[in-house]
Amino acid sequence: MSRSSSPHVLIVGSVALDSVRTPAGAVEEALGGAAVYSSIAASFFAPVRLVGVIGRDFPAEHLNFLRSRSIDLQGLQVEEGETFRWSGFYDFDINQAHTLATHLNVFERFRPRIPEAYRSSRYVFLANIDPELQLEVLDQVTAPKLTLCDTMNFWLESKRDAFIEVLRRVDVAFMNDAEARQLCETPSLVRAARRIMEWGPTTVIIKKGEHGAVLFTEGTHFSAPSYPLVEVRDPTGAGDTFEGGFIGYIASTDDVSEPNLRRAVVYGSTLASFNVEDFSLERMRRLTHDEIQERYREFQRIAFF
Ligand code: AMP
Repeated sequence: MSRSSSPHVLIVGSVALDSVRTPAGAVEEALGGAAVYSSIAASFFAPVRLVGVIGRDFPAEHLNFLRSRSIDLQGLQVEEGETFRWSGFYDFDINQAHTLATHLNVFERFRPRIPEAYRSSRYVFLANIDPELQLEVLDQVTAPKLTLCDTMNFWLESKRDAFIEVLRRVDVAFMNDAEARQLCETPSLVRAARRIMEWGPTTVIIKKGEHGAVLFTEGTHFSAPSYPLVEVRDPTGAGDTFEGGFIGYIASTDDVSEPNLRRAVVYGSTLASFNVEDFSLERMRRLTHDEIQERYREFQRIAFF
């Protein structure tokens, strides 16, 4: 299916200016945000509709970049005030982001308004954002075929009950290993996945950073490897890129069967492995479809035995 004729993916989440330091260098106020990383990744496969909020300080060049990827920005609200800002750093353990500051800014008063034309979107991804806002999005969509959610420790600490309510209403839950353990209060990821499925989702995907990802569905279990990268410059957005690649691929095939979920996990891993090769979204700007296909095939070789 071609990118433009496939079903739309609706993505709601943070649009940010990130300041990040890693052992490989640093960036100040670079383009970031969960919805941005996932929209760019999804846009390699399917048309994307982005809902979020920015302040008047958000650079026009970033909007032009998103538009150049055919991401529909009708749902991106522009408000008085400053854009959401996140700053953090990574040490040599690149799986662990250390948050220095979270300035919600315009997100503080944000209420997601899903434009009329977006409400019938078949694929809906609730990227990292306040879970109460994720619930408001679910109230506004009319005919989703697959709904997905992500979160982070920041919200699990402050809005746990609201997030569990989100879990009751979505089909697929993404979480990293530490968040799953934190939410379910168990060291066992298998037990955590089962517990999350009891709340509602039929599919749970646990991201393990540089150790790949695990897909749990009722009675099945698939372990995807990670790509053996020599250089990881900036892991920011790896999870969001993984999820965007996952949902974009699913939308492009319009197939939610378990074997296709497995392929989508590998496409998500493929995109994430590129994203971490450079800061912010720099690697994604240069990424080609041929590179994606080549690395996808390498993933198949890595996992074969
Ligand atoms: P990831 O590395 O995939 O977990 O996500 C990194 C992105 O999450 C960054 O670009 C941040 O702008 C964004 N982010 C950080 N904290 C929050 C938060 N509390 N709510 C929403 N997005 C956030």
